[in-house]
Amino acid sequence: MEILRCSNLTKVYGNGSNEITALDHISLSLEKGSFTAVVGASGSGKSTLLHLLGGVDRPTGGSIYVEDTDISTLSIEQLAIFRRRKVGLVYQFYNLIPTLNVRKNILLPVLLDGQKPDEKRFSKIVETLGIAGRLSNLPRELSGGQQQRVAIARSLIYQPAILLADEPTGNLDRKNSQETIELLQMSNRQYDQTVLLITHDEKTALKADRILTMEDGKIVQDEVVS
Ligand code: ADP
Repeated sequence: MEILRCSNLTKVYGNGSNEITALDHISLSLEKGSFTAVVGASGSGKSTLLHLLGGVDRPTGGSIYVEDTDISTLSIEQLAIFRRRKVGLVYQFYNLIPTLNVRKNILLPVLLDGQKPDEKRFSKIVETLGIAGRLSNLPRELSGGQQQRVAIARSLIYQPAILLADEPTGNLDRKNSQETIELLQMSNRQYDQTVLLITHDEKTALKADRILTMEDGKIVQDEVVS
């Protein structure tokens, strides 16, 4: 089943002589439960693609369907709700709220929505990610690897349509990097979670089912990993 589709997606930054085409008519379809890696040189458009698909930024042209909604037509308020409920974002620098403990950081999207947390799902996620014993700690009391686990837990709490990860291991040592990728793989398998992962590491990319290579704002290669 298709969970995300974009057609002729274009993003142009600046204007006049400063114009930069960061994405150049990208069309892409992602199946539910797929694990896709995006590779390419710095400046090839990877982060821009991820931000547009996650509703963090808006396209200059083209459409983006996530489930049945064209998110390129949503208002700013609708887009904020879409992001909270439908997109899990994991970044290199975790982006946790320093003054909130681990439990509140993970539940933040749900609390911002004024919803009651699903305690069963919460417990299962924190146990699986190995942070159940750290729920009342503040982010600064955790290691980098543990903070990234909290960020992954937060991204999974809402059963998002898609989990988008932008170089999630960029700030971690080898062991924690490997564990983080394994946790993303496990989320993919255990929750049938669709994952799109940006990485510059070939070995990491080979853990995905599919590798997209970007160059100058275009997808120049689309390979299935056997
Ligand atoms: P990657 O993630 O592959 O390194 P990016 O998507 O960050 O590539 O950037 C693609 C191109 O768009 C680059 O030329 C970059 O300089 C440009 N770019 C990205 N963000 C902005 C911005 N906010 N304003 C202007 N240019 C930008």
